[in-house]
Amino acid sequence: MSIRIDSGVVVGWSGTSHEIVLNGSVFLEGDTIKSVGTDKSQPADRVIDASGKIVCPGFINLHVHSQLNIGDYLLTDVTKKDYLAANWFVFGAPLKEKVEPPAPPAVAMGRRYALYSALRNGATTVLDPGGGPGALDDYVAIVGQTGGRVFFSPPFRSHDIFTDAEGRHYYEERSDKGRPGLKAAVDFIKTFHGAHNGRLQGILNPAQAETCEPSLLKESVAAAKELDVPVHIHAGGNFREFLEILNKYRKPVAEYLADVGILGPRTTLGHMAITGGHSRVDYPLGDELKILAETGATVGHCPHKCAKMAFAMESFDRYLEAGVRIGLGTDTYPLDIVSEMRYASLISRLVDRNASGARAAAVFNAATIGGATALGRSDLGRLAVGAKADVVIINLRTTRYGPVRDPINALVEYGSGADVETVIVDGEVVVENGSSTRINDDELLAQAEAGAKRAWDSWSARDWNGRSVEQIIPPAFPTRG
Ligand SMILES: [Zn+2]
Repeated sequence: MSIRIDSGVVVGWSGTSHEIVLNGSVFLEGDTIKSVGTDKSQPADRVIDASGKIVCPGFINLHVHSQLNIGDYLLTDVTKKDYLAANWFVFGAPLKEKVEPPAPPAVAMGRRYALYSALRNGATTVLDPGGGPGALDDYVAIVGQTGGRVFFSPPFRSHDIFTDAEGRHYYEERSDKGRPGLKAAVDFIKTFHGAHNGRLQGILNPAQAETCEPSLLKESVAAAKELDVPVHIHAGGNFREFLEILNKYRKPVAEYLADVGILGPRTTLGHMAITGGHSRVDYPLGDELKILAETGATVGHCPHKCAKMAFAMESFDRYLEAGVRIGLGTDTYPLDIVSEMRYASLISRLVDRNASGARAAAVFNAATIGGATALGRSDLGRLAVGAKADVVIINLRTTRYGPVRDPINALVEYGSGADVETVIVDGEVVVENGSSTRINDDELLAQAEAGAKRAWDSWSARDWNGRSVEQIIPPAFPTRG
């Protein structure tokens, strides 16, 4: 199957950076990009008219948990005055006695919804640091159905986090110390890495910096090296974690991770906003950005999620200037990588009080080649000959955008994942006119709605203090009917 995409504003690749080709043409054959330029003479099985549209490389979302937004909805718990115990602990740290494994159909539905939603919003590649625990061959089948490119293996950790009867959070060593989890991840990668014509790729996911003991991290690095896959770990994502590591290992988080040996060019750190140098931490020793830059690790920056929790990375520009590699992820819903570029830009400007900072090119690079570099893939995140045929087409000729002078500036300033019309992965059109060509969007949404309603309606049964969703997140307005 060959596809020619004609007459759009093409974001091509010069060999070292993105470049704009006006009235361009991209020719795809099988799963590969065969040409990018202005020649429209190649015969093709299908020609897509992209006039008035921008033809982008598929975006890379470095933080997509394959689960519904049930917990996300509760992130800003209004009852949590102990800020250190807020954030994802609100739903991710249950009362030990109330831990219940989720039902397999609910897990499968969450996976399908999240992976599709990220794809629908323009991310042809996602890094999944883990959703609900569930059957793994089932996960592989879902990646096959939805049609995107996914880096995944089940996450593991040596310590769990629970809430006690007073609402305090504590870490507890698992009796298995996380080793069966690491083994399950290694087995998953050995069995499924490369499935679906390579769309499913292995990545090791030691879950969080403070929930994995140093020896588990070292074993993870050794396993990743042997398997030849990248690593993701949540780190620098909240104040509780920073203090936990400082208290336990007597150093700030980036320094700790560097000393353990987990930082390197194939490691992505989900968030890494809270470093020793962060103004809210006020830790006066060392230079965490220098450490990050020297190791070549990538920060999987999720500005929207941080902003939800009332903090920011300090700052996108400062990290870049220090030589730190940055990719972008959403973490929280909506899984909209296009809007995430705007958040990255605006929040960096706010932090630095610099209206000319975090330019569109820099955040576009983060959402494309930054993610590709993190995953060790020079054939992703760019429209270059020989690269994977992963393409996103967005209509810029609407009254939302109005007159467009520069397409990348316009996309970053005004764009949203909702504007994505066409998504091509591995040379196959998987989203067309904003809908999946493989699954029924309406059916999926209805299933997601029913699943979320069930979970929210019965939330008090699993909450540490028996609270309802309305107590945790009061309705915006009094509601009747
Ligand atoms: Zn996460």
